[in-house]
Amino acid sequence: MKSPLLFIAVALVGCGKLEEAPEDSKNRIVVQTVSIPQNLIDEFSGEKSLEEIKTLTSFGPRPPESEGYRKSLVHLEKTLGALGWKTHQQKFSAVTPVGQVKFTNLIARFSPEKEVDWNSSVPFVLGSHLDTKRFHSITFLGVNDSGSSTGVLVEMARALSQAPEAAGQIELVFFDGEEAFLTNIDPKRDGLYGSRYYAAELNRRTSQPEAGIVLDLVGDMSVPLLIGLDSTKSLRTQAINAANKLKFTPKDIQMAPSPIIDDHLPLLTRGNLATLHLIGDFNKMPYWHTKDDTLEQISAEALAQAGRLTMQILVQLTSESGR
Ligand SMILES: [Zn+2]
Repeated sequence: MKSPLLFIAVALVGCGKLEEAPEDSKNRIVVQTVSIPQNLIDEFSGEKSLEEIKTLTSFGPRPPESEGYRKSLVHLEKTLGALGWKTHQQKFSAVTPVGQVKFTNLIARFSPEKEVDWNSSVPFVLGSHLDTKRFHSITFLGVNDSGSSTGVLVEMARALSQAPEAAGQIELVFFDGEEAFLTNIDPKRDGLYGSRYYAAELNRRTSQPEAGIVLDLVGDMSVPLLIGLDSTKSLRTQAINAANKLKFTPKDIQMAPSPIIDDHLPLLTRGNLATLHLIGDFNKMPYWHTKDDTLEQISAEALAQAGRLTMQILVQLTSESGR
């Protein structure tokens, strides 16, 4: 993550109160599919997310090609597999400012019985990066960046598996190479490697998903979640409606004051996928990209908020009232 001001900042509603966006029927996302039950939201556990993050970060730093990344992949495959999710390693290599690097995205679908056709799609994609930024001078565990969003996705996999038909509509993707090798992400040259590759591959499938949600840095209760400005408008509206439904306050969630570069961008542009970006306000995280991004920075409460918000959005997107 993320250098925030490479684009010209466009203020939408500023940093203040979260407001209802105007109705946006023209671009509304309509998914003819199985409703995700409202009561499934209560299944999501912040505590279980936290436990998952503790396990993940026990493998050490997770930059591309590292031992920590490889162990994380093995762990996720095992954990998701036990919950009924089939996994697929999407491997590729790319030229980076430090030379050719090998990357592996991990894709998962709920399908306890049948094999999965990885060339087709299901309606929804939920994404988080799995890699941590590579540092030579410090041990960077990346508990909030990107342990938090990864732990939330794994807990969503567990909660959703309680409703098998609903879970079958969701693809999880854990992106490699979100972080830049140099200081800041440059969307064309450095960083977003995994999401760029995944988005390009989406176009080659026999069917496409309807909507995506990308989470990042969601573990810190002391800062608000930001709804990314360049998210698809109808999904921003859904996020606002979901936050209101869950009685979030401006301390919990706000519109981002300016565009933020992250894995949602390739999905929107290269993947042509309606996408929502939800990210903790990293400008208010003095530990961001330092050795202090440790377990002290995150809480089960914040993880529960992010997970429940994401599930509420999915409930809305699959229910008559949400359309
Ligand atoms: Zn980062």
